[in-house]
Amino acid sequence: GQCVNACPCGALDYRREKGKVFRAINDSNKVVVGFVAPAVRSIVSSYFGIPYDEASPFMAGILRKMGFDKIFDFSFAADLTIVEETTEFLTRVDKKGVMPQFTSCCPGWVNFVEKRYPQIIPHLSTCKSPQQMMGATVKNHYAKLAGVKKDDLFVVSIVPCLAKKHEAARPEFAPEGIRDVDAVLTSSEMLEMVELLRIKTSDIVPQEFDDPYKRVTGAGVLFGASGGVAEAALRMAVEKLTGNVLTDHLDFEEIRGFEGLKEATVDANGTNVRVAVISGLHNAEPIVEKIIQGVDVGYDLIEVMACPGGCICGAGHPVPEKIDAMEKRQQVLVNIDKTAEYRKSQENPDILRLYNEFYGEANSHLAHELLHTSYTPKVGDNACNTVRKKANSTFVT
Ligand code: SF4
Repeated sequence: GQCVNACPCGALDYRREKGKVFRAINDSNKVVVGFVAPAVRSIVSSYFGIPYDEASPFMAGILRKMGFDKIFDFSFAADLTIVEETTEFLTRVDKKGVMPQFTSCCPGWVNFVEKRYPQIIPHLSTCKSPQQMMGATVKNHYAKLAGVKKDDLFVVSIVPCLAKKHEAARPEFAPEGIRDVDAVLTSSEMLEMVELLRIKTSDIVPQEFDDPYKRVTGAGVLFGASGGVAEAALRMAVEKLTGNVLTDHLDFEEIRGFEGLKEATVDANGTNVRVAVISGLHNAEPIVEKIIQGVDVGYDLIEVMACPGGCICGAGHPVPEKIDAMEKRQQVLVNIDKTAEYRKSQENPDILRLYNEFYGEANSHLAHELLHTSYTPKVGDNACNTVRKKANSTFVT
């Protein structure tokens, strides 16, 4: 209990959920929907010895064999997040809102802000993470489309992340008592289920993800590694600011890789977009402290991922080096992006259709209701802060 409360990013609130998922799969009244995060396919690629270009269909084949009724790609939700978050960013630029804008797709980082630095909550994007956007979209849009009651849908997210278990269980993500995401499996738990079910490589039939969220972009896949969110956002922001379709310079290589802080300044027809990419929470602290002191840190958009290197190093993955190297995990995602049919989130035809049919437009009233959230200061909630306050008399609550 004490450890769980003390953890600044929520990762120690670790609930094993294999049993819950097995029960749902065996319940004939439930439609079990799985969606799988980009970073998981780099593990699957190494674990089964599958080349990168076969990792996505192979991943879909594994979930089908496990008994999932509908299989979607988390990268679709990453595309949706980029459209919502970049629209919010451009509105802040236009209306001179609170800047810099921090990303909010990593629940480890969001928990850290709520617990340690609630003063910067106004800088956090109001966008839910891709996991919660996908859950809310499945429970509202897909339920209606398929004529299934929300109660009969059991939505499982498969991720590299322990903090996402804590996130899915937050009360604000269970409107009317029905959770948007019913269970969260880590990559390691999923591989354990594959072993328990005695699924062999030869049993797996590679296949496409399901409609209506079948198509994804390379930008969405890049979310799995540090810098991917900022790179995907830049591919949209530059287009919107210049009014020109971005055909070359889609690769922002300066913000890829494993350093704790990476920077890029992109000229969009005279408007400079200054981006910082941070991975590892300790690397965020100096910048956050400066912002609290009113110092201009010289950035417009800051991506923060709690895990060093981003989700490819998430604690829910098998330990790196035992199975593969971090660079290899990143390369799988970069290669998928390079060869993708669509490389910009705003060009994903299934995203465009979802807006036409359901959300209307980015940041619409309905989008705000289902895809955005608000944050609550949680200082004083945990033992860690007590220790910290004693150690640091300058800490302001
Ligand atoms: Fe989870 Fe780590 Fe990815 Fe954040 S960076 S979403 S804590 S795996």
